[in-house]
Amino acid sequence: MNHKVTLIPGDGIGREVSFAAKRCIDATGVKIAWEEQIAGEEAIAKYGTVLPANVLDSIRRNKVAIKGPIITPVGKGFRSVNVQLRKALDLYACLRPCKLIKGVKSRYTNIDLVVVRENTEDLYAGIEFSQGLERTQDIIDNLEELSGIAIKKDSAIGIKPISISASKRIVKFAFDYAVKNNRRKVTAIHKANIMKETDGLFLKCARDVSEEYKGRIEFEDRIVDNMCMQLVQKPELYDVLVLPNLYGDILSDLCAGLIGGLGIAPGANIGDSMALFEAVHGSAPKYTGLDKVNPTAMILSGVLMLRYLRENDAADRLEKATEEVIAEGKYVTYDLKKDCNDSTSVGTSQMADAIIERLNA
Ligand code: NAD
Repeated sequence: MNHKVTLIPGDGIGREVSFAAKRCIDATGVKIAWEEQIAGEEAIAKYGTVLPANVLDSIRRNKVAIKGPIITPVGKGFRSVNVQLRKALDLYACLRPCKLIKGVKSRYTNIDLVVVRENTEDLYAGIEFSQGLERTQDIIDNLEELSGIAIKKDSAIGIKPISISASKRIVKFAFDYAVKNNRRKVTAIHKANIMKETDGLFLKCARDVSEEYKGRIEFEDRIVDNMCMQLVQKPELYDVLVLPNLYGDILSDLCAGLIGGLGIAPGANIGDSMALFEAVHGSAPKYTGLDKVNPTAMILSGVLMLRYLRENDAADRLEKATEEVIAEGKYVTYDLKKDCNDSTSVGTSQMADAIIERLNA
């Protein structure tokens, strides 16, 4: 069967890891017609916009995309292309499996967690008002009147929308994932003790949805700060985690740390009719063009993509080949060596070559 997939190489190390992953996916023998589209810094230079309409059109047409990381300027400049893509295509579920691979340095011995992050609302909705503008002052005045709470006049304002519909569908996604993948428990994470309305609503929705799965999948909830400590101290107690957008972003990196770092943490953004696959890590600008960083996170994102395309045999073979190369520890990037200055570490493309060789062995 032939598939059509949109490939967005990305910025910084994006191009290196995306093309390494593409070569590995092609080496499985699955026939994919790749449609390359540019977004991010390269797109600004060429089209004057970070997210040209043809990128969204291509994903809507092909229904499946894989993307390298894209730079987002901090505190100024354009809105995150990654966030825009997830919102524009309603890719509401961010799925990030965190499984410890044999041979990876980690403080832990057995980690098998799945992070399910809501992707479309929360403080990530992009509803922000700059400090010093007249309309920000109007909002401050209105909010003070409505809430009876004083707000400093020199504030910037951000809005946190949490809805019943988005909360219920993400929790349902987490439970359905748990059922399909033989997981035992879903933990909903929140700060409902402080944000009683927004996080309180998320928790209520999670409790309501959990009733439908009673007797099949266990359910519990945790306050986010306690959860961070619990994950560091006893991660083996947890299984599938479901979180609103911001906590999901932060805990994804924490969980990546448990399994040996960002270089190996894959991800998927899934909607009702399409999906976009990408590593958890960003564009690590200081490594751009050095052929140095670990391609595993992108390759394993490719494994998730192959499963989405129902190419399960190819997905299993690529995952196994990647795990074997890592377990052997010879043709791996610096971050997977015991000492990251080890002169025997290989580059991004050479690690991909080793995986392809193993795949074909
Ligand atoms: P980052 O994930 O790019 O890098 C942080 C550090 O993690 C790197 O310095 C490196 O030491 C390590 N690392 C990351 N990827 C690695 C890999 N494949 N192999 C080995 N080590 C790796 O995070 P950052 O520096 O905070 O962000 C850089 C840029 O990326 C920012 O503009 C940010 O907005 C963007 N970003 C994009 C995405 C995305 O496209 N989905 C996600 C996160 C960050």
